[in-house]
Amino acid sequence: MATPENKLAFDGGWEYSPAPESTDHIKVEKKYELFIGGDFVKPESGKYFNTINPATEERLSRVALANDADVDKAVKAARKAYRGPWSRMKPADRGKYIYRIARIIQERAREFAAIESLDGGKPIREARDVDVPLASAHFFYYAGWADKLEYAFPGRKVRPMGVAGQIIPWNFPLLMAAWKVAPALACGNTVVLKPAETTPLTAMKLAEVIADAGLPEGVVNIVTGAGDTGSSIVSHPGVDKIAFTGSTEVGRIIQRALAGSKKKYTLELGGKAANIIFADAAIDEAVEGIVNGIFFNQGHVCCAGSRLFVQESVAEQVIRKLKDRMETLIVGDPLDKNTDIGAINSKAQLETIQSYLDIGKQEGADIYQSACALPDKGYWCRPTLFTGVSQSNRVVQEEIFGPVLAIQTFRTFDEAISKANNTPYGLSGGVWTDKGAKIFRMTQSVRAGVVWANTFNKFDPTSPFGGYKESGIGREGGLHGLDAYLRLEA
Ligand code: NAD
Repeated sequence: MATPENKLAFDGGWEYSPAPESTDHIKVEKKYELFIGGDFVKPESGKYFNTINPATEERLSRVALANDADVDKAVKAARKAYRGPWSRMKPADRGKYIYRIARIIQERAREFAAIESLDGGKPIREARDVDVPLASAHFFYYAGWADKLEYAFPGRKVRPMGVAGQIIPWNFPLLMAAWKVAPALACGNTVVLKPAETTPLTAMKLAEVIADAGLPEGVVNIVTGAGDTGSSIVSHPGVDKIAFTGSTEVGRIIQRALAGSKKKYTLELGGKAANIIFADAAIDEAVEGIVNGIFFNQGHVCCAGSRLFVQESVAEQVIRKLKDRMETLIVGDPLDKNTDIGAINSKAQLETIQSYLDIGKQEGADIYQSACALPDKGYWCRPTLFTGVSQSNRVVQEEIFGPVLAIQTFRTFDEAISKANNTPYGLSGGVWTDKGAKIFRMTQSVRAGVVWANTFNKFDPTSPFGGYKESGIGREGGLHGLDAYLRLEA
């Protein structure tokens, strides 16, 4: 495993002193209730579940488990707020509340980042530099649209949908909440939001922000729980729109449940993105982009570049550089500012990833993992490469949602495209080349909602995001993200 280039890392030459983010400034309650009608209320179910720190396996807090009766209460509170103040409010005033949420998130950014990292296992660097600033940017962006909706859709009459049921995953908890809540509010809807069961804490902090921002009671309601709570939101007759982000498997269940109903829906689902490196690319930059695309945030990214296609003439060079770079990646304490790869979000997710590592080996692929030491407690996975794979291998076709990269080679442009498109998913992709013409041809040929060129995993609230094929239906972000929360009339 060790090559002369990376020997320095093994010898400890690049070891950094620990630089842990302080947690003195954060407050995590021992117990969280449901946020319904502007109050924190005990669940009708009388039940609570643990949320743990996946890096230590220690309990962080106990969180209310919402049942059908709780969801019903939340939907009724949202309906009352919709009929009452929210849909009648002057749009500019609605905008002011949303700006207020954006600003409070900015002011409490350090607290949000530390809690996101503790609850989800992601490196503090990512929570601090990506999740929290982007979440606040989404609120700022959509606040600006609140009183300009008729300009967004010229010649059309715009009306809100009503009550939006929103269900989100664990990989970007606060950011996914922002993606959903901000446009819904800007368009005049009220909300029942359900965070993922392994990462409820920043949603509960968002509830505090919403209360501090003085939003009328019931405009945003947050119910915690697992799949049953989500399913109860989906089937509730008082919900007008469902916005779901999560796995394709659950997306299918939701789509079946909604068939024949009048509910509008958007589904943001899984992915298996292709990163394509041409021989004329700036190889070092490309390698850094590949590492960023699959290993940071433990590969817990729907648009992670989990398949790599390298032009044959540079394949050996790229794979050697990738392996060298992998040896320098620091896996460990998510709160340490030096950490590149934090903890896997849950035991169940770690088991899924490990089962794919076994599948890859059984399928005959060559596996390479970095040699880094792993902490004794918690859920960890070394960055992993599979080479010697073919298109039909499961590790090439299926979403693993871990720091696992499958590498294949190609000779011609057309071969790269046909391999990249040979997947049931179509969420994102990347191309690395110094030829602008190739970039344009590639972005037109890859069947994916987003294609990055000479970069990867870049987000902005003004850009729409969403998938083709089994990666979902509808778009979030930008102007397209407004469409999903409005009834447009001629
Ligand atoms: P998941 O589908 O297991 O869960 C997502 C959410 O749905 C959770 O809140 C969960 O409690 C809830 N849920 C589970 N069963 C449900 C049901 N029957 N009815 C209603 N709700 C239900 O997904 P996950 O493991 O939390 O997240 C990982 C997945 O999310 C990956 O597939 C990833 O690609 C995808 N994802 C997609 C995007 C995107 O924008 N396309 C973004 C982030 C994550």
